[in-house]
Amino acid sequence: MQQYDVIIIGAGPAGLAAALYSARSKLKTLYIEKLGTGGQAATTDEIENYPGFTHGITGPDLSKQMEQQAQQFDAERLAANVQSIELDGIYRIVKTNKDDFRTKTVIIASGAAPKLLGVPGELEFRARGVSYCATCDAAFYEGANIMVVGGGDSAVEEACYLTKFAKKVILTHRRGSLRAAKIVQERALANTKLTFMWNTVLQEIKGGDVVEKVILKNVLTGQINEMPIDGIFIYVGIEPNTDFVQNIIDITEQGYIPTDDYMRTNVAGIYAVGDVRDKLLRQVVTAVGDGATAAYHAEKYIEDNFPEERGNQYVNLNLGDKRMSKKLIEITKDNFAEEIKESPLPVLLDFWGPKCMPCLGLMPTVEELAETYDGKMKFCKLNTAENRPMAIQFKIMSIPTLLFFKNGEVIARLQGARESEEIEEKIKAIID
Ligand SMILES: Cc1cc2nc3c(=O)[nH]c(=O)nc-3n(C[C@H](O)[C@H](O)[C@H](O)COP(=O)(O)OP(=O)(O)OC[C@H]3O[C@@H](n4cnc5c(N)ncnc54)[C@H](O)[C@@H]3O)c2cc1C
Repeated sequence: MQQYDVIIIGAGPAGLAAALYSARSKLKTLYIEKLGTGGQAATTDEIENYPGFTHGITGPDLSKQMEQQAQQFDAERLAANVQSIELDGIYRIVKTNKDDFRTKTVIIASGAAPKLLGVPGELEFRARGVSYCATCDAAFYEGANIMVVGGGDSAVEEACYLTKFAKKVILTHRRGSLRAAKIVQERALANTKLTFMWNTVLQEIKGGDVVEKVILKNVLTGQINEMPIDGIFIYVGIEPNTDFVQNIIDITEQGYIPTDDYMRTNVAGIYAVGDVRDKLLRQVVTAVGDGATAAYHAEKYIEDNFPEERGNQYVNLNLGDKRMSKKLIEITKDNFAEEIKESPLPVLLDFWGPKCMPCLGLMPTVEELAETYDGKMKFCKLNTAENRPMAIQFKIMSIPTLLFFKNGEVIARLQGARESEEIEEKIKAIID
């Protein structure tokens, strides 16, 4: 089993800051990410409250820079899903869907995921008109009528961003005023493409192939309305990603991990940082502070508890490079017929976009599968930012989406970031 000084779970801002500090202290560092780099921060187009960027910076750009900086100091990356943490004496074992690893310390930076609204139609129409990521999917709603649900910073900021694409954006909020920061509210209220429906809850999402309308209720009058709509973006809060630690770490009733000021959890050698931690302010700036603090303390912990064994005695295997991967064929309208329509092999076509971090996170997994199934299936990718009409032709409303073709026809579809096993199952079912 490979061994590390520090294993970090999650490559959002907290995890990447921890990776930077840990690797720069010459601790043998692995960070594990199941989706794309940047976590939630990568799903927003503009971050204007992170110090050092006078004119703001996009979430994907900030995420890329954070990752490059950590890798510059030899932090290793693994694309995998952490399933559990176990204790092995003074060591900790991190179990993933790919390998298990022994480590002296673990930093949990698994952040949070968008909360579901929990109304009929939400799951049915996910990626077919229901989205939780504006930077990923906004471009599919050019000239459309969109509804945003929520009243906090994320909902209001993303609603403003969506007005750059949509004909009209309606923000529905169950209260009579917004919770977002004053400056965000002022900007939203001045935006002529944005209208507000106060005291209104979304009760149901309806449609055929894609979303067509919503059922709304005014909570003051009880009046029910039906409204035609092309897409719905939901920002009603977040839920901590702590399922995989529930057997080992104390968590609060809401699912967050309590820590002390050094980011220590109740288990020695295990830290929690960023949005997954029980704390007041969940932002990029606090996430990176947590990450730095935990990595700094982890170094002291290792010095105290493993005095003989510090850091660089291990060979740096660089897992990212070790796994063989095959580049995907780039599809445009010019080679679509030759590469896909007329292909004697079944084809996997990965619809991606350069601003979509989950897409960039999924790509190495698809490239690894392309290596494994070379000769049995053809693996291609299509940049939706450059080939929008083709994405529309295949009814792509959310990325990443994988389409599977046989004899030139679409026979299966996987939407959203998926684990390697799930994609592999689909491939096996198609080639068998
Ligand atoms: C739409 C939106 C807009 C925002 N705008 C701003 C803003 O303008 N300014 C600001 O400061 N903050 C903003 N935020 C908040 C900010 O993005 C978060 O506070 C920050 O991303 C938290 O960082 P984190 O690293 O703790 O967690 P996350 O960003 O949630 O990252 C956690 C990572 O861990 C991974 N992970 C989870 N479980 C596992 C597992 N089992 N195995 C492997 N990997 C796992 C996830 O895939 C994810 O990539 C915004 C958030 C949203 C949703």
